This record gives sequence, structure tokens and C-alpha cells, in this order.
Amino acid sequence: MYSRRFSEQVPGLPKLDCGTLRVRRPLQRKSNMNLHEYQSKALFSEYGIPVPAGEVAASPQEAVEAAGRLGGELWVIKAQAHTGGRGKAGGVKLARTLEEVEAAARELIGMRLVTRQTGPAGLPVHKVLVEQGSDIEREFYLGALLDRARSRITFMASRAGGMNIEEVAAETPEQILSTVVDPAAGLQPFQARYLGFGLGFSGDQLKRFGRILSGLYRLYLDKDASLIEINPLVVTAGGELLALDAKLNIDDSALYRQPVIREMRDISQEDPREAEAAEHDLNFISLDGDIGCMVNGAGLAMATMDLVKLEGGEPANFLDVGGGTTAERVTEAFKLILSDDKVRAVLVNIFGGIVRCDLIAEGIIAAARNIEITVPVVVRLQGTNHEKGLAMLAESGLEFITEEDFTEAARKAVAAAGGAQ
Ligand code: GDP
Ligand code: MN
Repeated sequence: MYSRRFSEQVPGLPKLDCGTLRVRRPLQRKSNMNLHEYQSKALFSEYGIPVPAGEVAASPQEAVEAAGRLGGELWVIKAQAHTGGRGKAGGVKLARTLEEVEAAARELIGMRLVTRQTGPAGLPVHKVLVEQGSDIEREFYLGALLDRARSRITFMASRAGGMNIEEVAAETPEQILSTVVDPAAGLQPFQARYLGFGLGFSGDQLKRFGRILSGLYRLYLDKDASLIEINPLVVTAGGELLALDAKLNIDDSALYRQPVIREMRDISQEDPREAEAAEHDLNFISLDGDIGCMVNGAGLAMATMDLVKLEGGEPANFLDVGGGTTAERVTEAFKLILSDDKVRAVLVNIFGGIVRCDLIAEGIIAAARNIEITVPVVVRLQGTNHEKGLAMLAESGLEFITEEDFTEAARKAVAAAGGAQ
């Protein structure tokens, strides 16, 4: 619901949901669980998708031991963090000696990796994947994802592998082949041939490619994936097909029936405030501006962001307290919003449909008495019992800026945060 589709900008492409627009990444995390590359590759192996021989290591010592066991003359040391673009950011290193393996692991383990997907704070690296290096002849892109408009799994493949696929989609969409799977029939051999021929495979390689596709399809269904990407899928100098990289997202809503996947969760890779919010059944989204927004409902969240921006402001976050909220949840919500030190003003924008505005007011007052609120708080209440709620705020003796009108409230919040930017 929060997502903006990248395909809306790419005419001719099926409606795909795999963009990395800046506004989308944190939002997307709400409905998907990410896995590390090493975890995804372990699953690939189970499903017959060939991956380089490799082991995960949590210390330079372990990395050297792993390289020793793997043998060979070239190793790749890869930072394990929930982000792509690691190669360009220095998170993937080649090593030709065990000393180089150790040095690479020493550099990566314990660092915060900053890529074009992570934002300036980056993500912590606690482990590296040590792999036998491959001699790459050609790189391809292969992905399976949900085409939401058609409610079907779609495979995409491209000869433009190893590159940022969003850029390929935007600049040269004709380089991306796609095929939509009929859920009743399942993935068909003609679809594998269509993609395989399109990538230039024939003979044995085409057969192997077909096996990779059917492995991906089974994995996608069995594990309730929402996205699987192999970028790059490579052909080695020896003619083998290998998944050199692996990205696997799992649909959060299905985690209740995926105990093995649930165990793979690494909360060190998640925004601590978003994780905390999830504990209280709140939806919290971190953004870059300075106005903290508390709303009820995703639609109102979007509308609030739009109006704040229209008035020249930038939201620092928004927190959706949902439909049937309570005073306790409002207090938790306030704590979360204020724990973000970017916040210079708070805008509470509640439409009382199911929720009663007087209960919200009670929650806000309780929160203000419980925690120190050091920034101006604009409260807009509208709907069920809003007069009562606004009166309670006015009589509380606390300094709230109250408002009934949406536009006016946004304007006041922007002014309270220091004016338009
Ligand atoms: P990403 O940058 O996070 O997508 O990480 P990838 O796993 O895709 O690795 C980035 C790049 O590192 C790849 O596109 C390759 O160019 C390079 N790379 C990774 N593994 C190997 C390998 O075994 N041999 C060689 N020569 N290069 C590799
Ligand atoms: Mn990659």
C-alpha cells in the first residue's frame, strides 16, 4: 500500500514492484523480510541452483580457515549486509593469498557498509561470505518477482547482468525479457526456452538454465518469497552457470508458516525504531526531514506527507497508529517519534472514524505528562468526538497547537519546525 511502483515510470514493462526509488526502500521493508546472501545461497543450493563453494565467517581467523578448506587460488570476501551495490562500495574483495583473505575480512567485519541503497549511516557487517573465486565469462540478470497488477509471478532476465537493473529498465527496457507464470499451469518449458534463447543459451547451458528457473520457481512458492534476484548469474570460463549473487525477500505476512526463514532474521540490519514500532504493532517509517508525523491509516499518512511537502516541509518519519488505537499506543508512538533527534516539530493528524478523537487526546496528554516533549506539537483532530478531544487538549494546561483544518495544521507544523525549506 505504501509502495510507489517503479514500473509506473517505465512504459512497456509489466507492473513490477522492484524499484529502489529512495522513498520506497524504507517503506518496502514493512512487508518484506530480507535474508543475507549466504542464507539465500544456502536455500539456492537446496533447490538445485548452483552457487560458488563458500562458507560464512564471523572473524578474520574463521575466514582464513574457510578459505583453506575451500582451496583454490582465488577467493572472494563479501560483506554480509542487507543491501545491494556492495561491489561498488568496497564490500566485495578479491584475495589471491590467505594473507589477503585475512586482510579483507579484517577490513570488512565490524565496519558499517554504506552503499547507494543504505543511506549515510550504512549497515553493520558482522559476517563475511568467503567464496571460491569464479572466472567470469559473461554476466546476466535473472529475477522472479510478483507482478501485483496481474497477481502473478513474473520472471525477468537480461544480458545486462551485474548492473543496476533499475537503470537498465529505465534506459534500455528492450534489454529486459520477461514472462508471466500462470499459477494453474506453473512455469512452462516454453517460458524457460524463451528466456534462455533470449540470453543466448543453447544445448547443455539451456538445460541448466531451465533447471535454475524451475528451482527458483519452487523456491519462490515454497518459501513465500516476494522477490528473488540473481545479479549476476554468470557463465564461467568452464561454461558453468553460477548464481554469483543472491537476493531473496520473503513476504512478512507468510512468516507465521515459515519457521526456518524466521530463524534467519537479523535485526541488526533493521532500523531499530522500526523494529521497536513493530513490537508495539505500530508502523513506523524513518525519513529524512524534521517533522515527526503521527497519523492513523496509510492513506492519511500519504496525504499528510503530501501536505507537509506542499507547505515546504519535510517529514522526519511517520508513525501509523492504525485503526483501533489506545492511549498506551499513542504514548509509545510519541516516544518513538521523539526518539528521532532530527524531529523539530510533531504533527499529529488523526481522523476519527473508528477511533475516537477524545481517546487520542487522552493518549497525547498522557504521553506529554510521561515524557519530556521538547518540540512544538501540532494536533489536528477531525471526526468522531473531535471537539471533545480538542477541548481536552486546550484544558490540559500543556502547550499544544490545536487545529481542525488539515492544510492549516500542516502549515503550522512547518512553521513550528522552523519554516519552509
Ligand atoms: P553487489 O555489488 O552487492 O550486487 O554484490 P555482487 O555479489 O553482485 O558482487 C559484485 C561484483 O563483484 C560482481 O558483479 C562481480 O563483478 C564481482 N565478483 C563477485 N564474485 C566474483 C568472483 O567470484 N570472481 C570475480 N572475478 N568477480 C566477482
Ligand atoms: Mn549483485
